[in-house]
Amino acid sequence: MKMDSIASEMGQMAGTSAAKALFGMAPEELREVAARMGLPKYRATQLGEALYKQRAVSVQEIATLPLEVREGLAAQGYTVGLPEIVQAAKSVDGTERYLVRMTDGETVETVWMPGGDGGERGDGSEAAVEQEGEFGDAEDAVEARTQKQIPPLRYGMTNNLAGMTNNLAGMTNNLAGMTNMGDCGTKDGYKRATICVSSQVGCAVNCQFCLTAKLGMRRNLTAGEIAGQVAAVLNRQRVRIGSGRGVQTPSRINLVFMGMGEPFLNYDAFMHSVHLLRAMGIPESRMTVSTSGILPAILQFANEPVRPKLALSLNASNDAVRERIMPVTRKWSIATLLAAVRSLPLGKREYVTFEYVLLGGINDQPQHAREVLALLAGMKAKVNLIVWNPGPGIDFQQPTPADVAVFHRMLIDGGIPTFTRRPRGRDIYAACGQLKRTTVPEPLVEIATG
Ligand code: SF4
Repeated sequence: MKMDSIASEMGQMAGTSAAKALFGMAPEELREVAARMGLPKYRATQLGEALYKQRAVSVQEIATLPLEVREGLAAQGYTVGLPEIVQAAKSVDGTERYLVRMTDGETVETVWMPGGDGGERGDGSEAAVEQEGEFGDAEDAVEARTQKQIPPLRYGMTNNLAGMTNNLAGMTNNLAGMTNMGDCGTKDGYKRATICVSSQVGCAVNCQFCLTAKLGMRRNLTAGEIAGQVAAVLNRQRVRIGSGRGVQTPSRINLVFMGMGEPFLNYDAFMHSVHLLRAMGIPESRMTVSTSGILPAILQFANEPVRPKLALSLNASNDAVRERIMPVTRKWSIATLLAAVRSLPLGKREYVTFEYVLLGGINDQPQHAREVLALLAGMKAKVNLIVWNPGPGIDFQQPTPADVAVFHRMLIDGGIPTFTRRPRGRDIYAACGQLKRTTVPEPLVEIATG
């Protein structure tokens, strides 16, 4: 089945393109623009470097182009067309949530997590190896963490944060932040940061524990709008990559495609954005895409010569439970999804991440942990456990600390590297599943944009 028909079937609306936005164009498109204006090819190269390396925000500031070329582009209606950060809120933990407006006025949310979210840990990527370097060899470090992690402590931290902020919204299968164990300090406080990127305005998948699902599906983002969120955030944070603008802090940027939307229902734009982001100097090894389980896209992804790492939102140990909380399971069973995931050619140190939102009394009991272990037997898998929080209009129970601890311990004892995450930015509605274009209430702090 073709991806576009699947998207249509799931109620997805066609994407709209920003009119004459240069950001998002592939090299051949930029050459076409240059050719239409009677410019030599090297002008297209300069244009591409200004857009993706220097992250120019306006045609007028592209100093490598002569004034008459810039004026010609403007006269023909070309703009850089980067999404614009129109609202921002900062968490007590340093996380910043941005409302990002596209040129047609639609908005999505993008999250900046200084210190990283830990999502790359243990997945064997270059980024993970760098992180693990702080602890020694990557595989040793996975093993060490496996032995040392103490679920009750982490869960306690989660509860403290929840209690402190007392704002309750749902959490999703997506990555939330992690503890600070990898947060190696610098004079600026951190060496790495993670950006959580949205792929659609709203979402059609309708996971029952997710606030984003409440928005419904509005439209796909274009590749330029997906990568443009990253450019907008990096510009705001003045992060320099390579020869681009800004300062060299943090030195490592990781991306997680786990914001609003299902990236694999916007597959072509998502994959195009990966190439744009690589052109911006961020290697695919530092990107992780999370899917609710769109089978044809997983199979297509497995054949991509260049791809981010994969995270599957499992969230249940059997189809009956998963169907209840993730209706998409009626279309593709856990078994078919895992068979597809097993077809993914993994790098030597690469793991597939399985996200698992713990819902009290639904999927958090010892028999569920045993089923998860059976499902993942023989796989190079790691599990991120995410403790769900109650949210308005979402009818689930929070798991008890004891159940979380037992579940975590059972997976570790079963040989699966397992991490129980505490969310980043929950107080500003920036944690997983909280991205609903939420207006931040008092006493949360709005910070200046721009
Ligand atoms: S959890 Fe992800 S896939 Fe599911 S409804 Fe929310 S945004 Fe969509």
